[in-house]
Amino acid sequence: MNAIGPLPIGTRVFHGETLDSFAHRHALRNHTTVHEVEQSLRASGLLTTSRDRKHEDRATAWRALGALSPTAFPTTGRVAGIPIVTRRLCGHCTRGQVAYGAMPDMGHVCLTHSRWLGTTQVDVHRYPAATKAERTFRRLARRGVLFDAPVMQIGRSAAFAGTPRAALDRRASSLRIDDHDALVYPEQVGVAEMLCDPFVMERATDPTITTSARRAAVATALEHIFSRVPVARIWAAVLAIQPALDRTLDQRREHRALTAVGDEVQFGILRHLELSG
Ligand SMILES: [Zn+2]
Repeated sequence: MNAIGPLPIGTRVFHGETLDSFAHRHALRNHTTVHEVEQSLRASGLLTTSRDRKHEDRATAWRALGALSPTAFPTTGRVAGIPIVTRRLCGHCTRGQVAYGAMPDMGHVCLTHSRWLGTTQVDVHRYPAATKAERTFRRLARRGVLFDAPVMQIGRSAAFAGTPRAALDRRASSLRIDDHDALVYPEQVGVAEMLCDPFVMERATDPTITTSARRAAVATALEHIFSRVPVARIWAAVLAIQPALDRTLDQRREHRALTAVGDEVQFGILRHLELSG
C-alpha cells in the first residue's frame, strides 16, 4: 500500500466526510472516476480484489491518493451498534461543494453558519431558538442519541401534533423560513430531551401511580416545552408520545425491582423502542 502516491490535484477532506464522498470528489477533480482509480490499483496489486466497499484497504488507499492524515475517515459508521445515516454536509462549511458525511455529534443545525441541515439547507440566523435547540441536542448526542434516533422521531411527531397549523404559519412568516421541520426543531429536541430525562421518565412511567397522575407528569413537562406555541395542543403531543411511554411502563411492571432514576438503559435513552410502540 505504501506504493500508492497522491493524485496530482489535491482535494481537501471535510470534517466528518465519508470515504465515498471524498473519493468521488477527489476522482472528479482529477478527471477520473472512483471505479477507474480502484480498477487500476487492483490491476497493479495495490488494492485487494475484495469488492467490499467498507474494506479498510480502500480507506488506506484513498488516504494515500489524497495525501491525507491517517485520521481521515475516522468514523466506524455506528454508535452503540446503530448505523449512522450519511447526510449532506453544510454547504457553507464545504464552500458550496456537495459532500456527504457521518455526523454523530450533530443534529440538524451547523452552529458555525447557523444553517439548517434538513431536506433543504436554510439560514436560521433569525431563529435563535433553533441554534439553542441544537446545543441541547449535542448534549444528548454525547449520550449516544443520533439525529434520527427514535426519541428524535417521537419528538418530531409530538412537535407537529402539539403545534397548531396557525402557529406554524405564523412562525413561518415571521421567521421567513418555509421548512416546517426547522420550525418545530425547538419542540422536537425538547421532547427528545424529556424522553432522555430519567427524572421525568421515572414519574411518567411509574406503575405505582394512577394513569392520570402519569399523564399529568408528561403534560406538565410538555407545557414547558411548548410554552412558545400559542394554543398548543398538549393533549395531542401526549398522544404522540404515549406508545413509547406505555411500552416503558410495561417493562417496569415486569421488572418492578428496577430503579428508574439513573438507569439509562431502561429509562434514559429509549433508542431501542420501536416507533410502532
Ligand atoms: Zn457550516
